[in-house]
Amino acid sequence: MERAEHIYQRLVEICGERNVLRDEPMKNHTLVRIGGKADFLVWPETYEQVIEVLRLKEEYGLPFTLLGNGSNVIIRDGGLRGIVMQLKHLNRIWREGNNVIAQSGADIKAVSRFALEQSLTGLEFACGIPGSVGGAIMMNAGAYGGEVKDVLDHVKVATLAGELKTLKNEELELGYRTSIISRTHDIVLEVVFALQPGDYAQIKAKMDDLTFQRESKQPLEYPSVGSVFKRPPGYFAGKLIQDSGLQGKGFGGAEVSTKHAGFIINKNNATAADYIATIEMVRKTVKEKFGVDLELEVKIIGEE
Ligand SMILES: Cc1cc2nc3c(=O)[nH]c(=O)nc-3n(C[C@H](O)[C@H](O)[C@H](O)COP(=O)(O)OP(=O)(O)OC[C@H]3O[C@@H](n4cnc5c(N)ncnc54)[C@H](O)[C@@H]3O)c2cc1C
Repeated sequence: MERAEHIYQRLVEICGERNVLRDEPMKNHTLVRIGGKADFLVWPETYEQVIEVLRLKEEYGLPFTLLGNGSNVIIRDGGLRGIVMQLKHLNRIWREGNNVIAQSGADIKAVSRFALEQSLTGLEFACGIPGSVGGAIMMNAGAYGGEVKDVLDHVKVATLAGELKTLKNEELELGYRTSIISRTHDIVLEVVFALQPGDYAQIKAKMDDLTFQRESKQPLEYPSVGSVFKRPPGYFAGKLIQDSGLQGKGFGGAEVSTKHAGFIINKNNATAADYIATIEMVRKTVKEKFGVDLELEVKIIGEE
């Protein structure tokens, strides 16, 4: 049997046929609807399956990529070699005391909504963030003055070597859109958010207000990765891009949004090459006009 077929069969034994895709276009699995093919895309249903897939990738020496909801990544047009894993089936959310516990494949929006239903306050800021819980930890996701760091108690992770560990908030080095996970590449499996009892109506009013602000300012009608750039110290990326006159400009199907200049939208079947060329054009122009280096918030991965 050829090697690729052998790997496929082993993955099917671990995760089941319905949870293993071959040569899968990743544009079907990223919010920006961009991305070349993954050799193998797997969706484990249990932590044991996650560990077994990690062992298999070690055994075959395969490249490995973990994705959440694919809301903050651009996968290049050449795609991803080896195994790509998404934890979308590990999506349970439950309450213990004032803690909300979520498996990392749950949507952070769903966790925010669950907290509302339980009249627990602290996760209102996350009500419009389209990532998974795991992605939100990795990125220390935040919005409108709140961030994961404020409400996170601890996480359970699997190391790439397949060892299980618990990491407390302080150990995660949560900073502006970053965490220690970006260096260790641990896989977040389960997350404990420490919340406070609150008033349902007040929590809901705050979430409604944040949703209104988001919908009125962001081009949510088009696929995108959200804010492409981090906020440069002392500036707003969107304002610099707007003042550079770049709104409506871009390459191929990618365009700097006319509604929010910090967003680059996939307006018309953009390729990763279109999107990345647009990013580079924005960085170059802003550097020339204002002398500011725009650092990427979005992650660009995969082969050319
Ligand atoms: C319209 C729009 C609005 C957005 N608004 C916001 C916002 O207000 N605030 C904000 O912070 N972000 C925002 N984002 C960006 C994005 O939603 C967040 O960064 C989110 O946390 C990414 O989660 P994800 O599951 O999609 O991760 P992905 O994009 O799939 O992956 C991002 C990184 O996280 C890692 N990762 C994913 N899952 C795990 C896991 N289980 N364990 C370890 N690492 C993991 C991946 O390996 C990758 O490095 C927005 C995006 C869009 C498209």
